[in-house]
Amino acid sequence: MEKRLVKKDELLRIVKKVGAEFNVFAPVRVEDNVLFKSLAPGEEPLLTFANTKNAPKGVFFPRTEVMIRYVRTPKGTVLKGVELEARDAVLFGVRPCDARSFVLLDLLFDQDKYKDPYYVAKREKATVVTLACTPVPYTACFCTSVGGGPVDGTGSDVLVTDIGDAYLVEFLTPKGERLVKYFGEAKATAEAENKKETAAKEAIEQIKSVIPAREVKPILDVSFDHPFWDTIHKRCLACGTCTYLCPTCHCFDISDEMKYDDGRRLRNWDSCMFPLFTKETSGHNPRPTQKERWRQRVMHKFKYYVDNFNAVACVGCGRCVMYCPVNIDIRKIVEDISKLQQ
Ligand code: SF4
Ligand code: SF4
Repeated sequence: MEKRLVKKDELLRIVKKVGAEFNVFAPVRVEDNVLFKSLAPGEEPLLTFANTKNAPKGVFFPRTEVMIRYVRTPKGTVLKGVELEARDAVLFGVRPCDARSFVLLDLLFDQDKYKDPYYVAKREKATVVTLACTPVPYTACFCTSVGGGPVDGTGSDVLVTDIGDAYLVEFLTPKGERLVKYFGEAKATAEAENKKETAAKEAIEQIKSVIPAREVKPILDVSFDHPFWDTIHKRCLACGTCTYLCPTCHCFDISDEMKYDDGRRLRNWDSCMFPLFTKETSGHNPRPTQKERWRQRVMHKFKYYVDNFNAVACVGCGRCVMYCPVNIDIRKIVEDISKLQQ
């Protein structure tokens, strides 16, 4: 594995050079928020930030994307094009939890049997450059409870760690190694690697939220009808913030729009928190109240994903904890489930 040492004041220049060849997405301040977005010409990414409010999943699975375009003719509907184009992209400054979310999304969107060509086209063209969390950004972070860590390289092609006086840059995959040429000639030293190990250990110690996220599955297996589900949803406003900000949530809806004879088929994010999400044409809704919707959210992340892919569908980023307007805390819910009496 190639490793380089990069001076602190060099990194922005390197991103700029990468931007001449690739479409770069990175954390940028937009008014009061730090957002993960495509860099405009001349725009610089933030290097000191906690995490972006939006998850970088939107690069591969946009909030709205056109799938096909078609035209209505007297002889019937004619397909005009399938929107599968993707540009070579570099995602710079992804946090380790969010890089890990890509691996979880791959399990769903890029299976041997079922492939989502829209997701796969963008994912294959993208190189993920992760900025390790030293220090750990939020008290709500619990990545270590779900198999991740603040200096974990899962889902990353390149891992950049601040070691105080410089960055240690590790090229973890062949895709990542395509970027070595931008990062100079200074090879990593044993001293730099030791500093990284120390930084990683200290970062892990900073994570105070530890929850039994992987242990609750056997309890959830037998708790579908438990009275516990009557207790967690009452404050929920069904706003969908938790699902829209979550790096692993991936519910969507597909709709058609017509303007005169031109039509396009769109895929839009949806949310299991919304009453209409499961409403059937007949008017029947199998998840009629927020109780059933919250149960689905928890079951999907901590039981069904484990059943289907042997992985918990949460990376412990803490976004849903920080941004829920009524302070519903998934950490407490998981903790409470772990204590349920059957
Ligand atoms: S963010 Fe909070 S209030 Fe909004 S849907 Fe999620 S749990 Fe409910
Ligand atoms: S469920 Fe919450 S903490 Fe877990 S990945 Fe989604 S937003 Fe982050």
